[in-house]
Amino acid sequence: MSQFRYLHGAVYIFENAKAQRVKVGMTINNVVDRLGHVNDMWLGRKVTCQICGGRLVNHAGHVPQHRGSGRGCPGGNALPLERDTALAESHLENMTNLLSELSGSEKGSVTRKVRTLAKRIGLYRQYERTAGAWQLSTVFYTACAEQVELLSHEILAERLDKDAPFGEVFCCSVSEATEAVKTALSQLGLLDSARKELNCESPTDLSTGARVRRTRMSGHASKPVGP
Ligand SMILES: [Zn+2]
Repeated sequence: MSQFRYLHGAVYIFENAKAQRVKVGMTINNVVDRLGHVNDMWLGRKVTCQICGGRLVNHAGHVPQHRGSGRGCPGGNALPLERDTALAESHLENMTNLLSELSGSEKGSVTRKVRTLAKRIGLYRQYERTAGAWQLSTVFYTACAEQVELLSHEILAERLDKDAPFGEVFCCSVSEATEAVKTALSQLGLLDSARKELNCESPTDLSTGARVRRTRMSGHASKPVGP
């Protein structure tokens, strides 16, 4: 962590009881919108472009036409990465071949793209039909949501589900995830100013510092949450 940024936001814990997974993430926007996006990806409504990795609402099982780097992305109208990797693999091969002809910053940029795409292909080769759906479990509103999220991920690092079709998914219980977020808040000196909400239905109020500070959670701090 090189910078300490003050980003008022929500560190959320989503639970997928059927898949026995939790997702720990942060947003400065609406948590329920974020949950909807996660379920769209998980349930396959949104699919992944083989070329650019964009997540788009599928059109009859295919990636819709879309723009990539200012032009029509060649991944449009093709099967998504969830269903086929042939297009992604030939794109990867073309980029890898291109590397020997490049130098300097151009080479660096293509090298990064090659690495990202190779990783993405690897992820979807192991992709299996996903179970259940995600639900909102717990949200912590805090002044430094980004740092709290990063530190929580470090604390839970060993439980990371590397095979999940998107990031920040952990093989642990909600209470373990909750403890990790609280430990992160505590280590960053933010526990007393954070506000915790369980299964909140309308988390539209996370932008104002006043509301974040309105209810302090020091009363809960010493008690672990649930079994
Ligand atoms: Zn694309």
